Amino acid sequence: MVETKERAEVSLPRLQRRFKELSDIGLDPEVGGLYRMAFTQEDMEARSWLEKEMEDAGLVVARDGAGNVSGVLEGREPDLPRILIGSHLDTVPCAGTLDGSLGVLSALECLHAMNEAGFKPKHSLEVISFSDEEGRFGGMFGSQAVTGKLTPETLHNAKDLNGVKLADVLERRGMDPWKALEAVRDPKSLECYLELHIEQGPVLDVAREQVGLVEDITGLFKWSVTLRGEANHAGTTPMDMRQDAFFGMAEFAYQIDRVLEENGSERSRATVGKAELLPGSANTVPGEANFSLDVRDTDPEILRQLSDQFRRALSAIARRRNLMFEFTVESEIEPVACSRPMLDVLEEKAKDLGLAYRRMPSGAAHDAQMMATITPTVMLFVPSRGGKSHSPQEWTSWDDIFAGTNLLMETLLELSETGVTDSQEA
Ligand SMILES: [Zn+2]
Repeated sequence: MVETKERAEVSLPRLQRRFKELSDIGLDPEVGGLYRMAFTQEDMEARSWLEKEMEDAGLVVARDGAGNVSGVLEGREPDLPRILIGSHLDTVPCAGTLDGSLGVLSALECLHAMNEAGFKPKHSLEVISFSDEEGRFGGMFGSQAVTGKLTPETLHNAKDLNGVKLADVLERRGMDPWKALEAVRDPKSLECYLELHIEQGPVLDVAREQVGLVEDITGLFKWSVTLRGEANHAGTTPMDMRQDAFFGMAEFAYQIDRVLEENGSERSRATVGKAELLPGSANTVPGEANFSLDVRDTDPEILRQLSDQFRRALSAIARRRNLMFEFTVESEIEPVACSRPMLDVLEEKAKDLGLAYRRMPSGAAHDAQMMATITPTVMLFVPSRGGKSHSPQEWTSWDDIFAGTNLLMETLLELSETGVTDSQEA
């Protein structure tokens, strides 16, 4: 039986107070944006602040070798696998206040309220704030460490855009870099993982829905592509004797729609976000074009087909236009499916709470993507006004934040008793 003195209830004023305090850490008052990049002084300050708040909530606080901060509400059967709920407190430069922080603070609020009400869950509950999700040193550092994907090579080689080495920064913060490898968890110690996040896209806001239940998290591949022709005089080289690298790049961009139409799904996205022509002078035929290609979908098979077709398109264009081409795979992340039984619990609770919701994919990568590789995982989204994120304009109404946190609470109250089972739809 559940020994509850009173019903655990989310306190919006407490959540608001915590948001206000956290939003002051790393704030540049002139531009109104947050600068809490991973392992900066501000990020470290946020960690200490969080640990204090976790203590005040009566949780058992711990920090692992990767700098992930955890607060645990111990269950009645502490040997059972734990339920983790989390996100991250680090930010991109000039960030808003919600990305990452919402997931950590809402989880903390749920556990605080349970503790206050004298609710002791069956499974232990752990709120976790992961290190460097945003990618100062590559991204999802903390969740990679927990899921066993961190390698000694990454630890040794990772640098930020200014060439500062991750290992040096960790040492400067009093951490032993190699201890990050010890943050790995045994999947058997975990029951499941949940993450509440802002959508960072416009779908819920436009549809005026309060929560999104995430079914799949998109996978992606990123290439750097080079097309090489011959730089030559813009006036003296006849059109039919050119090896113009820009024309090759332009033709490739023009073919993106066709490739997606023939081989993609409605969830496919392809973007050339960065391009450079060399030598880069108005009166020279460009001899080299360098550009990025970012392709996403939630289906691993479709991603493979797209990768294949984009390679063919490049190769055909290069042949026809007498260019050389090469590309480097900068990153590849497999798409993941969220846990169907957990989605069913979320959906049932969303109905009970009378929330306007939809099931949807996530087009952005999150710590949940790493966690899903070792334990059943779900994400829930709340709307982002205008779809804005990674900007001080990031905004979600308190109503929606409250609704999302309540949904998280109801879901946790159930899962902490039942665990994740196959027959939860009943
Ligand atoms: Zn985030």
